[in-house]
Amino acid sequence: MQETLALVTGAAGGIGEAVTRLLAEQGTTVAAVDRDAERLAETAALLRKEGLAVTGFAADVTSSSAVERLVEEVETRLGPVHQLVNAAGVLRLGPAHTLTDEDWNATFAVNATGVFHVSRAVVDRMIGRRRGAVVTVASNAAGTARAEMAAYAASKAAATAFTKCLGLEVASYGIRCNVVAPGSTDTPMLRGMHTAETAAQASVAGRPEQYRVGIPLGKVALPEDVARAVAFLLSDDAGHITLHELTVDGGATLG
Ligand code: NAD
Repeated sequence: MQETLALVTGAAGGIGEAVTRLLAEQGTTVAAVDRDAERLAETAALLRKEGLAVTGFAADVTSSSAVERLVEEVETRLGPVHQLVNAAGVLRLGPAHTLTDEDWNATFAVNATGVFHVSRAVVDRMIGRRRGAVVTVASNAAGTARAEMAAYAASKAAATAFTKCLGLEVASYGIRCNVVAPGSTDTPMLRGMHTAETAAQASVAGRPEQYRVGIPLGKVALPEDVARAVAFLLSDDAGHITLHELTVDGGATLG
């Protein structure tokens, strides 16, 4: 069987790390990408120690030239990339009318433009090989209004629309492009929003004063819950699924 190589962004921690681990456990070789070089090196070393085929590549997805160099280097060292997971992301909270230009631009630079940069560089190479699968980790906030998340939600809606348009264009080459839309997931990003003690409580109960809904399943997701959905959409089991947005939020968006 032909070896599979996946490139995962945001792989130093949280959901990206869980995706990297799961894919590697399933036998995929993983190019793990993150801008936090130190944490990435620790994560990659830990996974390699467990016998998993994970190589770390430090890169910032906001730079198109850095991304082009990254993908070139990954393919030179490890071979053709068959799977791409866009998990790198940032969250800046605040009422829309107080967001700074910097908040807005920094959010879009990673969550929307970063997805564009990496997807463009990888898919351009996949087309000639007529094989590939892309999953963008967006957010349930892309489709449901959330207080204090205007820049984040807008950037995730952009990433979602981009991924679906890309998927339409490359479907005839056998390349599938899907979106996983997580809700509250227990990662450093979520813990940054609340104190560690209140994270689960606030997410489960909801805060009606902020028009936020709760989670019908009664718990926040683990990074592994999201990783399993990503791995499914990348796999041959999802061979006839493309342009799909799979919500993994315990029912929080009620649909
Ligand atoms: P996290 O903060 O734990 O991990 C994000 C990773 O992305 C970090 O390792 C960070 O260094 C990396 N990163 C940020 N900017 C980068 C850049 N410019 N270039 C390369 N790497 C960069 O967050 P997480 O919760 O694991 O989030 C993973 C994805 O899931 C994000 O896209 C996030 O928006 C999305 N998401 C998270 C939640 C949640 O509740 N945690 C909910 C919905 C969606």
